[in-house]
Amino acid sequence: DVAPETRPFEADVAKLLHLMVHSVYSDKDVFLRELISNAADACEKLRYESLSDPALAASEGAKVTVTLDPDARQIIVEDNGIGMSEAELAEALGTIARSGTKAFMDRIASAKEAEGTQLIGQFGVGFYSAFMVADRVDVFSRRAGSDQAAHWSSDGLGAYSVQPADVAQAPDHGTRVILHLKDDAASYTERYRTQQIIKDQSGHVPVPIFLKEKPDAEAEQVADGAALWIKPKSEISAEEYTDFYRSVAGQFDQPALTLHYRAEGLHEYAVLAFIPEMKPFDLFDPDRTGRMKLYVRRVFITDEAEILPRYLRFVRGLVDSSDLPLNVSREMIQQSPVLAAIQKGVSNRILSELEKLSANDGEAYIKFWDNFGAVLKEGVYEDFARREQLLGLARFKSTVSGEGWRSLKDYAEGMKENQTAIYYATGSDLDRLASSPQLEGFRARGIEVLLLTDQVDSFWVSAGVDYDGKPFKSVTQGLADLGLIPLGEGETAAPAASEEVTGFITFAKDLLKDEVSDVRASERLTESPVCLVAAEHGMDRQLEKLLAAAGR
Ligand code: ADP
Ligand code: MG
Repeated sequence: DVAPETRPFEADVAKLLHLMVHSVYSDKDVFLRELISNAADACEKLRYESLSDPALAASEGAKVTVTLDPDARQIIVEDNGIGMSEAELAEALGTIARSGTKAFMDRIASAKEAEGTQLIGQFGVGFYSAFMVADRVDVFSRRAGSDQAAHWSSDGLGAYSVQPADVAQAPDHGTRVILHLKDDAASYTERYRTQQIIKDQSGHVPVPIFLKEKPDAEAEQVADGAALWIKPKSEISAEEYTDFYRSVAGQFDQPALTLHYRAEGLHEYAVLAFIPEMKPFDLFDPDRTGRMKLYVRRVFITDEAEILPRYLRFVRGLVDSSDLPLNVSREMIQQSPVLAAIQKGVSNRILSELEKLSANDGEAYIKFWDNFGAVLKEGVYEDFARREQLLGLARFKSTVSGEGWRSLKDYAEGMKENQTAIYYATGSDLDRLASSPQLEGFRARGIEVLLLTDQVDSFWVSAGVDYDGKPFKSVTQGLADLGLIPLGEGETAAPAASEEVTGFITFAKDLLKDEVSDVRASERLTESPVCLVAAEHGMDRQLEKLLAAAGR
C-alpha cells in the first residue's frame, strides 16, 4: 500500500467545514438532499457524455442507491454516473467551486456563528454538509471509461487524503460516498425516517432512487425519477411543485410563481419555471448567469445555455426541447435558432405572467417587485424590444406614493397642466431623497417626482428612455421647466431675482470661482435657501457619484 497523500483544504473550505462540524443547525437532513443531488447530477452527466462517446453508455439504467448500515453506523450513497478520477476528486472535494457556496461564505463572513448556521439550509452548501452528521467521509469513485478507482477520505478537520483504490471498492463507473455517522446522527440508519426524508427532499430528482435497509437487503425504489414536467398539470400537487422547485433551483423557500406549460407549433418544448419567494443571495454576482436548465427530450444538456436574458436571472427551472438534436454540443446550442425561439417564447411568457399577476394580485406583485424589480429594470436599457413592456411592469416610490407604489400609468394620469416630462430624483437613501430641497418647487406645484434608489436606475434613465412619449427628466438636471407649470393653491413662488439677489449671486460666483459653473436664482426652491444641481446637459449627480466610486 502506498501512503495516502494528505492535503490541506483550501482556506474557505476549512472555514466552511468548521461551521459544519460545529453546526448546531437543526435541520441536518439536508446533507442527504445534497448527496443525492450530486449523485443524480453525475448520472445526468454520464447520460450526456455518452451521447458523443457511446463507449461510455451505461449498461444499466441510471440510479442512485442509498444503503443503511445500522451495525456499522453508516449511510452509503452510491451512483452509477460519470465518476471522478483521483485528480477530479481532489479538485471537486478540496475547493469551493460552486457560486452558491461562495455566496454563502461571503454572507456568513459578516454574520455571527449562530446566524451563519441558520443560513445553511437556505443555501444548500453541497457535499461538505455531510460533515454535519459524519465524523469521517470516504469517497470511492471511478471515472466512466477508466480502469482505475480512487479514494478520498477526510474527518473534515482541515485535511483530506486521496489515493488510488482497488476497483472493487468503487462502482464500475460512478461514486460511492460512505458516511461514518456521529453518535447523535445514528438515527439516519433507521429505514422509515430516511425513506421519508428522501421522498420529501429528493422525490423529484430525474433519476430513480433506491433504498436498502441493510447492506444485504434488497433495494426498494423510493422515487421513480420520472420527469415532473412531462406530467399534465392537473396531476401535480402544489407540494410536488414545491419539492421540485427546491431540487431544481437549489433554493429552499416556496416558489412565488410557478409557470408550467408546453409550447407547441413551430417549436415544441416544455417549460417548468419558478420565481422564488425570497431573493437568492447571488442575484447581483456579476458572474451569475441564468439558472435555467436545458434538457433535450428528458436528457439534461446544460445549465449554461442562456435561455433567459440576464434581467430574468431570478427565474429558476428548466426547458425541455423536442426539436434540438440530442447530440448538439454545448457550444453549438448558443447559436441555434431553436434556442433563440425558446428564449423569445419563454421570456415573453414570463413577462405576460407578471402582467397577469400585477392585474390580479397586486399584493403578490409588489412582493415580487420588491425582490426583483431592481433586476428587471436592467432590461429597460438592455432589451430595447421589450422596453415598453418592462416600463409598464415597473413600480416606483415617489413623492406621492407613501407606503404604496406607483406605476408609470399612475404617474401619467396625475400629470399637471403643461407638464411634458416625467420627473425623477436619484439617490441611495429613500428618506433623504424624499426630503431633498430639490423637490420643493415640484411639491409646490403638485408635480409627482419618482424617487429612484436602485443602482440600476441611474443607467436606464440616462439611456434616452421615454414612456408614452414623455421623456424622463432629472430634477437635478439644470432648471426644470417649472415656470410653465402653475403653482398649487396657497403656494408662493420664489420672488423674482431682486437687486439684492443679483448682488448675492455675483458675490457667490466670485467666492466659488472654478468650483461651480454657474450660480442662479431658481424657481425650484421654496423653503431651502440653496441647492447644488448638475449642469443641464451634464451627468446626473447620482451617476456621477457611481462612476466616481467605480474609479472612472
Ligand atoms: P455542486 O454540486 O453545487 O457543484 P457540491 O459541493 O455538492 O457542489 O459538489 C462539488 C463537486 O463535486 C461537484 O460539482 C462534482 O464535480 C463533484 N461531485 C460531488 N459528488 C459527486 C458524485 N457523486 N459524482 C461525481 N461528481 C461528484
Ligand atoms: Mg451538489
